[in-house]
Amino acid sequence: MGAGATAASLLMQLSGVPGIDSIDLIAPGTAGLGTAFGATDPSVLCNTSVDVTSLTAHGTSDLLRYLAARGHPVGRDDFVPRYLVGQYARERLTRALQQLRSRGVRTRHVRSRVTGVAPGNDGRSYDVSLAGGHVLNGTDIALCLGADAPALPPALQPHTGSPQLLDSPYPTNRLTRLPDDARVLVLGSKLSAIDAGLVLCRSPRRRVTLTSPSAVLPAVRTRLRRMPTMHISSDDWRSLHPDDPEFDGKLARRLVRAVRRASPGGTVPRPRTAGTAEELLRRETQQARTGAVAWQDVMAELIDALNAHTCDWTQRQRDAFFTRHRPLIARYISAIPLPNAELLLSAMERRQLTVAPAQPRSLTPGPQGQGWHAHWPDGRDEHFDHLVCATGYRAPRLAVADGTLLLDAPGGTPPAIGTDLRIRLRSDGHAERIWALGACAGSRYPIVNYLRASAQHAENVAAQIRDTPQQLPLALDGRTSP
Ligand SMILES: Cc1cc2nc3c(=O)[nH]c(=O)nc-3n(C[C@H](O)[C@H](O)[C@H](O)COP(=O)(O)OP(=O)(O)OC[C@H]3O[C@@H](n4cnc5c(N)ncnc54)[C@H](O)[C@@H]3O)c2cc1C
Repeated sequence: MGAGATAASLLMQLSGVPGIDSIDLIAPGTAGLGTAFGATDPSVLCNTSVDVTSLTAHGTSDLLRYLAARGHPVGRDDFVPRYLVGQYARERLTRALQQLRSRGVRTRHVRSRVTGVAPGNDGRSYDVSLAGGHVLNGTDIALCLGADAPALPPALQPHTGSPQLLDSPYPTNRLTRLPDDARVLVLGSKLSAIDAGLVLCRSPRRRVTLTSPSAVLPAVRTRLRRMPTMHISSDDWRSLHPDDPEFDGKLARRLVRAVRRASPGGTVPRPRTAGTAEELLRRETQQARTGAVAWQDVMAELIDALNAHTCDWTQRQRDAFFTRHRPLIARYISAIPLPNAELLLSAMERRQLTVAPAQPRSLTPGPQGQGWHAHWPDGRDEHFDHLVCATGYRAPRLAVADGTLLLDAPGGTPPAIGTDLRIRLRSDGHAERIWALGACAGSRYPIVNYLRASAQHAENVAAQIRDTPQQLPLALDGRTSP
């Protein structure tokens, strides 16, 4: 269920798996396009290079192959517009469905939202409840639901629907429709806030302020790609124990060594950064222009390693580690491409875009829909015509109540998800043939907002489905029991 990039990757992996009888793709919108890669504005870029923005996790980037076959002059380091990844996912998904159909597999796209999954009465399949009351039955269930619900700050939730409040920067035509001289406050300073700032600043009279608790922008990189050699070995990772009081120091030393190996003399990520957002951006943009971004060449490896080596920690150990290192992870793992940094810098130098040094103490709607008043910690009051929330997205809340998996319903308890991505509905820990992929697996794998992680999950799940021993009765949604 879900029909975005993760589902596209899974279908690609399943297209050659024998014994599948039928596949139901359940999703309300267009197959292949989700929030991020459904963006149509050609100026909205990926922050990951072509090399890792692939629906397959191994070998040559499949996105590179796809773009090269269509005459796009891109290399593996390039950051391409996100709409191209959307087209790619959509075409690969369509092709996978065609391949499945040509093998006699029945496929259909059911345009609805899933609300729950319960074990069926036959003990070998699941009943999938849809919004509107319909129920579908399937033997293997893949949750590929992404993270598409805007995470609105609680204080703004009562104002949902106000024309002066956009709950998300996407679709970006809502931003371009704002008045040419609008003063806009964007809540957030990470990737979607930067998209919002850049799209809004295309109209030269608009004034844009970004505000967030960190008051800094992500670091700047010129590529995010896999490297031919691993700089921290698996044995080295395994020798680190999360409860070791020396853990952070040991990891930091290994990282510094890895960065030095990747590029002797190169700069190492810093947990604390001096200077204003603009000064920092100027400095890091200049470093990127001259190619002095040594840390970037260990990032792809670091993300893979964090997912591979923290997934069998306890939830408490993972939470503690990622809470301690969130600022570092947010700045460097989610760094921005140099072209975006250049655009941001020039908007800042024109005084069209600013990053506020602190968050407003309060935001109050003006009378009769006349924008918003921000009260800043230095005592100033400032008027904005519009607020744009770029405060992130959340995956559907998964919960188990009475042996049923519920999506975005109140109550219940979060299900355990194994390292095999299978969900446990029962207290005896029995693994169901329900898999959580991509953002749905965020309680087990820490870095899931990344297409490469989805592709890894899809490979893992497809292999489990393919390798299911013949005597096991359950199979992909509707698959006949062997
Ligand atoms: C602003 C932004 C920028 C990003 N940029 C990058 C990038 O540059 N590089 C990168 O690697 N990753 C990036 N990501 C992460 C990337 O979007 C995800 O890795 C990828 O989209 C995951 O695909 P998905 O199919 O899991 O989710 P999506 O592509 O979001 O698709 C989710 C699907 O699930 C459906 N759905 C949701 N709820 C239900 C329900 N209850 N029932 C049925 N269907 C449902 C939706 O309709 C949709 O079809 C970005 C994410 C965001 C938010």
